[in-house]
Amino acid sequence: MRNVWQSILDLLFPPRCKGCGELLPSAKNLCGTCREKLHPVGENTCLFCGRDREYCSCDFGADLLFERAVSAWYYSDTGRALLHRFKFRGDRAVFDEILGRRFLRRVKEETADIPLDGILFVPNHKSDKDRFAQTEYLAKALSKELSVPVLEGALVKVRKTEPQHKQSLSGRRTNVKGAFSADSNILRGKNVLLVDDVATTFSTLNECTAALIAAGADRIICATLLTTAANSRTGGKHHE
Ligand SMILES: [Zn+2]
Ligand SMILES: [Zn+2]
Repeated sequence: MRNVWQSILDLLFPPRCKGCGELLPSAKNLCGTCREKLHPVGENTCLFCGRDREYCSCDFGADLLFERAVSAWYYSDTGRALLHRFKFRGDRAVFDEILGRRFLRRVKEETADIPLDGILFVPNHKSDKDRFAQTEYLAKALSKELSVPVLEGALVKVRKTEPQHKQSLSGRRTNVKGAFSADSNILRGKNVLLVDDVATTFSTLNECTAALIAAGADRIICATLLTTAANSRTGGKHHE
């Protein structure tokens, strides 16, 4: 019965690739080309920035405050298109059906030896409350997977900023300077997982980390759904 309904739905609303928008012959999410160009982060990663070692050019966080970062996919090609769809159109299926499983598994594996007390997400400013809160969505999914609570309201954005992707690389740090505030009553002595959608320069995550440290948080691990690949335009070449 379910298959019959699916066939009728497919006729009425033919499935389209969430990467490029092409019509698909059956109920799938990605066409073959977009699937090929979705690059997962591999297993042999830099222990600081979380990228494959071959794509890492980090200096092990000489000027970054968090302990380490974990990521699941590269922000390039299909990864970039999917993030935009998830973030700006609120298409939750991008996470639920395509990007989510690998993200949840990787973060679980990479934080298995860390006694986490709570999960935080990079917050939107309150003036953006009508926008889809994609980082909160990721945090809630992780909370369920790891059985660790989201610490609601522990990290807030106190100043509205310009979109980071519109800033020059050097301008990103000043754009987010002092934009976040954290609650020491909730965070003192806590080990937290800080969640964002994409890491490029780590400026936003670092600024949040500064606020968390000021509030007395102990260990701070970052998890991002996607990350940029420092040495490669296309990102990881490994496929699942
Ligand atoms: Zn496609
Ligand atoms: Zn690195």
